[in-house]
Amino acid sequence: MNRIWFSLMSGLLILAATAGPANSDQSSVDVASGIQLLPGQLQADRSPDGNSLILRGEEGLVVIDTGRGNEHTRQLIDLVSESGLPLVGVINTHWHLDHIGGNARFKQRWPGLHIYAHPSLDTALGGFHADYRKQLDAYLPTLAEGSPEQQRYQAEMDLLKQDRKLAETDPLRKSTTLTLGGRILEVHVSEHSVTEGDLWIFDPQTRTLIAGDLVTLPVPMFDSACPEGWKRTLDKIAATRFRQLVPGHGAPMGPENFSTYREAFNRLLECSASNTDKQTCINQWFAQMKPMIAQADEAYGRTLLGYYIDQFIRPDAPGRKRWCSQKD
Ligand SMILES: [Zn+2]
Repeated sequence: MNRIWFSLMSGLLILAATAGPANSDQSSVDVASGIQLLPGQLQADRSPDGNSLILRGEEGLVVIDTGRGNEHTRQLIDLVSESGLPLVGVINTHWHLDHIGGNARFKQRWPGLHIYAHPSLDTALGGFHADYRKQLDAYLPTLAEGSPEQQRYQAEMDLLKQDRKLAETDPLRKSTTLTLGGRILEVHVSEHSVTEGDLWIFDPQTRTLIAGDLVTLPVPMFDSACPEGWKRTLDKIAATRFRQLVPGHGAPMGPENFSTYREAFNRLLECSASNTDKQTCINQWFAQMKPMIAQADEAYGRTLLGYYIDQFIRPDAPGRKRWCSQKD
C-alpha cells in the first residue's frame, strides 16, 4: 500500500468517520446575489464531494464543480433543472474526482454542454488516476461482496473507468474572462499549485472568489500539489479584492480568515524547510488556524499534515519532485 493510497483512502476515511451530518441531502445556501452554494459532504459511508456552486445570470446558469457523480451530483442536477433557466456551462476548478466526478452525468443530461477546465486531466488519467485504479484493483477483492465498503470502492472504480467522459470540452490554459449566461467571470489559471492546472474564479459583480481546493480545511491537501506554486497562487488571490471566498471544502470565509490561512500556509512551508521538528510545525498550524477548525477534525488533520510534510513539503520530499516538475 503506497502513500497516495494512504492519503486518498485512509486520510479521507478518517475524515469521513469524524465529520459530517447524517445521511440526507445538503441544503443549498445563497452566498451572494445569484450565487448558490451546494456544500460538499463528508460522511462515514460515502466518498466526499467538493463544494459546488450555481451562478445565475440573466440568460442562464453556470455550475462550478459537479461533485462525485453520486447524490450530490443528483441534487445539483435537480437544482439546475428546477430553476427553469438554461444551463450554459460548467467550470471545473481542478481534476480531483470530488470536483469533476459528476461531469459525465451532466453531459448526459445536457448534450452539447460546455465544460471549461484546465486540460491536465489527461496527465492525471495516465498518472494519479491510473495509480488509484491499480490500488483499487488490489483492494476490492479483499472486501466482502456487497458490503458497504465494497460498494463504495466499486463506485470509485466505476467512476475512474469513465475516463475521458469526465473531461472538459473547452480547455483553458490561460487566464481569461468568460461571459456565461450574461454573467462576466474572471477565470484565473494557476499551474503547479494544488494540481498541474488549477482554476480559480472571481465574480466582479459580487466580489465572490471561488477558490477550489486552493483553500481547504482543516489542512491544505498536498496529494498532487507543488508547495511553492501553491504559495504564489495564494499571493495572487490575496491581491484580489474579494468580499467573500468559497473554499473547495468548508464554509465561505472573509478576507481576514483567508489572510490567516495564507500566513499559516507560508509558516508551514518555512517550518518544514527548516530543521524544526515536524510536530512543532503541526502544532503551529493548529494554533494559528484554531478559530476555523472544528475540534473533531483536528486529530485526522494532524495525521494528514505529518504525512504531507514528509512526502510533499520538505525540500527533499518525493512528492515535490513529481508535482513541481510534472511529467506524469
Ligand atoms: Zn476536493
